[in-house]
Amino acid sequence: MRIQYFPLLVLLQIFVACSGEQGPTDAEKLGYFKETYESNREAFRQLCARMKDQRAEASTLNVPSRSDKDLTIDLCYFPPATPGGKLVIITSGIHGIEAFASSAIQRFFMDRLLGKLNRADLGILLVHGVNPFGFRHERRVTENNVDLNRNFDETPALFQTKNEGYSKINSLLNPTEQANPGNLSNRFFPLRAIYNIVMHSMAALRQAALQGQYEYPKGIYFGGSDFEPQKEILSPRFLQVASSYRAIMLIDIHTGYGARGKLHFFPNAIKDAATRKRIETVYAGYQVDYGDTKDFYTTTGDFSEYLGKLLKGKEYIPMVFEFGTLDSQTTSGSIKSIHNMILENQGYHYGFDSDESKAEVRRRFREHFYPSSSVWRTQVLTTSEEVFPLILERFSSL
Ligand SMILES: [Zn+2]
Repeated sequence: MRIQYFPLLVLLQIFVACSGEQGPTDAEKLGYFKETYESNREAFRQLCARMKDQRAEASTLNVPSRSDKDLTIDLCYFPPATPGGKLVIITSGIHGIEAFASSAIQRFFMDRLLGKLNRADLGILLVHGVNPFGFRHERRVTENNVDLNRNFDETPALFQTKNEGYSKINSLLNPTEQANPGNLSNRFFPLRAIYNIVMHSMAALRQAALQGQYEYPKGIYFGGSDFEPQKEILSPRFLQVASSYRAIMLIDIHTGYGARGKLHFFPNAIKDAATRKRIETVYAGYQVDYGDTKDFYTTTGDFSEYLGKLLKGKEYIPMVFEFGTLDSQTTSGSIKSIHNMILENQGYHYGFDSDESKAEVRRRFREHFYPSSSVWRTQVLTTSEEVFPLILERFSSL
């Protein structure tokens, strides 16, 4: 029988060679990855319900919607043996489609890593699928086309923010005809992008496009004209859980930006010296890419920054975990990346010229934020296995 496997093995090797991605794969780790919003949510709920030995407490928050009565954010809270210490909050799916990988990471963490931690005074709160609409419909944004990570702040003055750089490149970022990835304008997109890079510089373009904007409701990186319901739903819960702790660490999980397969530690610009010092202690030995450094960008309406304001008076350590997929730190990766964002958004608002175009654009978008590669998926959990216990232990002993 063994010999019959040989051609299969050769085919598999050819496939791996063609896909250009090599590295270990692990079937057990791959089992954590699920392909729909419902299956991820169900797996999260079931796992939380099974973890009574870790004192797990499950809860569900409904997210109001015009079109869907079954959008929820699910929470699993693990209180410590003795209260008063430290709390880690791990969030997934602020950008809906990024929740596929982030949900796998959360469940892998609960299932395989949490039981090994010294949790004498360490509480853990997992928040699953902060943007369930985007999760279900495989978009980054909410039902209102809002990028939730540009939508959090204490006051609505946020929505008066002007992004003048964005207005200058609005026509490049937001075409208004039906989407067709194969037409001339899209085939020449890299050239048009390079022309803009020459005219404005890469850093200026990246900052303008990605920081967030509040003037073009159908545009990419739209931060809203009001708060999305998530702020009102989650804030009281965070305040309530955090009230019995003196120090809080946030790990907000994302995918899509940075070198493929690499975990980037990517906080927004951190101005407070004490917070920066705590980050440097907990993440010692790792490269931390602050938003105000080269190749990165700062944003407005950032969730991690808002949580710090909400929990003022507590020691707070914000961090965004960003698992890279498209090498967006390179010029060609960054052009591909923004092109995927543009086409998906354009098709959503103005339709597609054909079913083939729709399928191609949606396939590219999904690969961008949730690669199907077994190597990438395995790597994400292997990295999580190394990083989470170490970071949590350092936070615990601060
Ligand atoms: Zn993201």
